[in-house]
Order: sequence, then C-alpha cells, then structure tokens
Amino acid sequence: MTKPTVAIVGRPNVGKSTIFNRIIGQRMAIVEDTPGVTRDRIYGNADWVNQEFHLIDTGGIDTGDEPLIEQVRSQAELAIEEADVILFATNGREGITPADEEVARILRGAGKPVVIGVNKLDNWQMQDFVYEFYNLGIGEPVAISGSHGSGFGDLLDEIVKHLPEKDDDPYDEETIRLAVIGRPNVGKSSLVNAIVGEERVIVSDMAGTTRDAIDTEIHQDGQDYVLIDTAGMRKRGKVYENTEKYSVMRAMKAIERSDVAIVVIDGEQGVIEHDKKIAGLAHDEGRGIMLVVNKWDAVEKDGRTMKQYTELLREEFQFLTYAPVLFMSAATGARVQHILPKVKEVAENHNMRLPTHILNEVIMDAVAVNPAPSDKGRRLRINYITQVSTAPPTFTVFMNDPELFHFSYERFLENTLRRSFQLEGTPLRLLARKKN
Ligand code: GDP
Ligand code: GDP
Repeated sequence: MTKPTVAIVGRPNVGKSTIFNRIIGQRMAIVEDTPGVTRDRIYGNADWVNQEFHLIDTGGIDTGDEPLIEQVRSQAELAIEEADVILFATNGREGITPADEEVARILRGAGKPVVIGVNKLDNWQMQDFVYEFYNLGIGEPVAISGSHGSGFGDLLDEIVKHLPEKDDDPYDEETIRLAVIGRPNVGKSSLVNAIVGEERVIVSDMAGTTRDAIDTEIHQDGQDYVLIDTAGMRKRGKVYENTEKYSVMRAMKAIERSDVAIVVIDGEQGVIEHDKKIAGLAHDEGRGIMLVVNKWDAVEKDGRTMKQYTELLREEFQFLTYAPVLFMSAATGARVQHILPKVKEVAENHNMRLPTHILNEVIMDAVAVNPAPSDKGRRLRINYITQVSTAPPTFTVFMNDPELFHFSYERFLENTLRRSFQLEGTPLRLLARKKN
C-alpha cells in the first residue's frame, strides 16, 4: 500500500517549515541533522480524518546558492514530480509577490491539484486578505496561521479532498519487491541496468498514479522480481537530484514499497555517515537488507581485501550484522549475477515462519544453559516464545517481568535464533510480554 504525497512549496520565509511541523505534529519524521541546516525534518507522515499521507517540505531540499527565483522553481518542479497534491504556501500579510507568481505559473501547467495556504493571518481582522489569492488562478486559498494553528482544519479538509484513491500494488504476493538504495553516485542506476541487462524486462510507467514510479519487472529462474522506483535515478539533471535529503526521501519511498532493500556502497570511497542513514531507514522499516559494495573493479586489492572490507562494514553497520555482503562491479558486470539469487534467499528468510515447538525447544535449551543474570535480586524467567508475524519475523516472548528483559539478553535470544535458523538478511523483532 502506498500513501499519497503532499508537498509544500513557496518562497522562503512564508512559513513552510512552520506549517510542516503543524501538520506532522509530534510524529516521527526523518531527522536530517546536518549542521548549519535550520530545518531538519523535510519528510514525514501525516493523517487527517483517517487519510494518511506523506508530507514533504520542499523548502528543506538544499538546492545550493541559487538565486531565489531558481530555488522556488526547482522546488516547484520537485513538488510536481513527487506530489499528488501541492500545498502552495504564501504570506497573506505581504500579498502576492513576483516569486509567488512564478510558482503559480509553474504549477498551473502541471495538472496537479493545488491548495493555497495563505499564512500569517493570525487574527480574524486579517481574514479578508485571503481573497487576493484567488487572482493566482490555481486552487482554493485557505486562511491559516502557522504560529497559532488556526485554519488547519479547513486547510487539511481541502487537501484531503484532492488526494487520490488508495492504490494497491499490482503485483502478486509471490513477486519480490526490490529497492536499490544508496546515496548519489554509488552506482545504483548502473547496477539496476546491469541486473536487468540480460533479462527480459517490462518497464511499467506509473507516472501520474500515486506510485509515480517506474517499476521494472524481471523474471529469473521461476521467480518474479520487481525493481522499485528507479524513476528518480533515470531522470537526470535536476538541481535537487544529487542532494542528500532528496536521496533520503527517494530511498524512503522505495523502501516503503519493498520487501528487500539493496544498500549500495561505493567501494572506492568507503562508508560515510549518509550510507548508514539510508541503511538505517531500511532496518527501521524491517525490510530484508543486503549490502552491496560496488565499483570493486576500481579498488586495489589482494587476497585479503574482501575479508578486511567485510570487517570494516561490520564495524560501520553494527545494526546490520545480519545483512549479507556482496562485492561487485556494475561497470564490468563482475558478480552481478549473484544478486538476484541472494535477494530470493533473503526474501524467503524475511518471510520465514518457524514452527512453535521447534522454536520453543531452541529457546528453552538456550535459556537453560545461559539463564539471565539476576537484577537487584530478581531474575528474568522466559516462559515461552511464539512467532506472531512475518516480514520481518516477529516473536512474542512471554516472561515473568518485561522490565527485566534487558537489551543484552534480547540480543542473546536473537543470536540464538539466528544460529539455529536460516535468517540471513532479515531483521527480527522480539516483543516482551508478561505471562499472566
Ligand atoms: P519557511 O522559510 O517558508 O519554511 O518559513 P518558516 O516556517 O521558517 O517561517 C519564517 C518566519 O515566519 C519564522 O520567523 C516564523 O516564526 C514566522 N511565521 C511562520 N508562520 C507564521 C504565522 O502564521 N504568523 C506569523 N506571524 N509568523 C509566522
Ligand atoms: P547513482 O547515482 O547511484 O545511480 O550512480 P550511477 O549509476 O549514475 O553511477 C555513478 C558513477 O559511477 C558513474 O560515473 C558510473 O559510471 C560510475 N560507476 C558505476 N558503477 C561503477 C563500477 O562498478 N565501477 C566503476 N569504476 N565505476 C562505476
């Protein structure tokens, strides 16, 4: 299930970031803590009257030191490309400016629904300022105050009215949905091309739908795969294309629709913080994960290099001890053929369902050999474990007191499961529950 997207556009200082925070409320959003950037959240989840949607603050996409008019232009283009509904933020106290007119001009041609948020109308005496904005000739203007929170009911009603119907994935359950993610220039599109190179490929252009992605379907050795959301990798030359925040947003959208995420690392450059952030998103969403070190052709190496590199990755991605590591070169095609078989394996592990009695045997044996240490005179007792769902495999562990279930013991149980069962590439979740 894909949620529709709403993007906020508008010139600087009209209150986009304030509006964004109002709509998102206290919900978690991606935290981009780049120093020197005032606004750290640009992408979040919102809902209104049971309609869920993504919200993007295009003002947070760094487009460099461009002149103002260029900035609002690229933000408007981004919104058109990404969003189902565009929230055009203006400053009601200042009225329509040339930059507003430019945004309106771009949006008018786009065929996407637009709602105009006429901001900074902090009291009722100012409400009449809203009428001027009908002159922009796009969308309904709604008086709001980001600071006070007024008008947001009407604004959200208007936005939700234009959201498209929920859009189910057209692929059957057996199809493995694969996202190739990573920061700019690590070789994602080269890798996608190398993977699909020899296969029969169906490219379905989903532009205009909620998905707004180009999916590539592949069939290999009796298995269907679909490569998700490679559109952003193909459309080149946009100003925002190579910014980190944009790539995080792209990754997030692709991850949401995927079963397995391939995190691509540039073997030549090594791991940087941004790689971890992107991999972290896939981990938090509970997707199957593989680490692919690309550009291996460009790395000077001897017989030990792969082993050393793997150790380095384990060090850098401590939360991803379960992810298989593959080395390859999209440029020469070396070892690219190992990807899909591994993806299939990871997808199977991600969907693993373990029989309850074997599960309990394994865990109870481990617990008997290695009981939890006592904590202030009290000792954790595990009663039994049961798998409650798959993708990722999720277990409820019944115990005397969940407060005594410390991270180290959770890790011990997880490692026990991993040693006993085929779970490479998939995160696991253990839920502590008090036994009544
Ligand atoms: P952005 O650059 O469009 O994201 O704008 P910001 O959200 O950073 O807001 C710019 C300035 O306008 C800040 O000083 C905000 O406190 C202020 N501001 C935002 N919304 C309102 C509002 O509804 N009323 C008033 N009076 N000020 C606001
Ligand atoms: P993306 O931004 O992650 O999609 O990266 P691209 O696929 O556009 O690749 C970025 C750059 O890396 C391009 O110049 C590619 O030619 C180069 N590149 C990609 N894969 C490889 C590889 O396996 N080896 C080498 N040496 N260069 C590569």
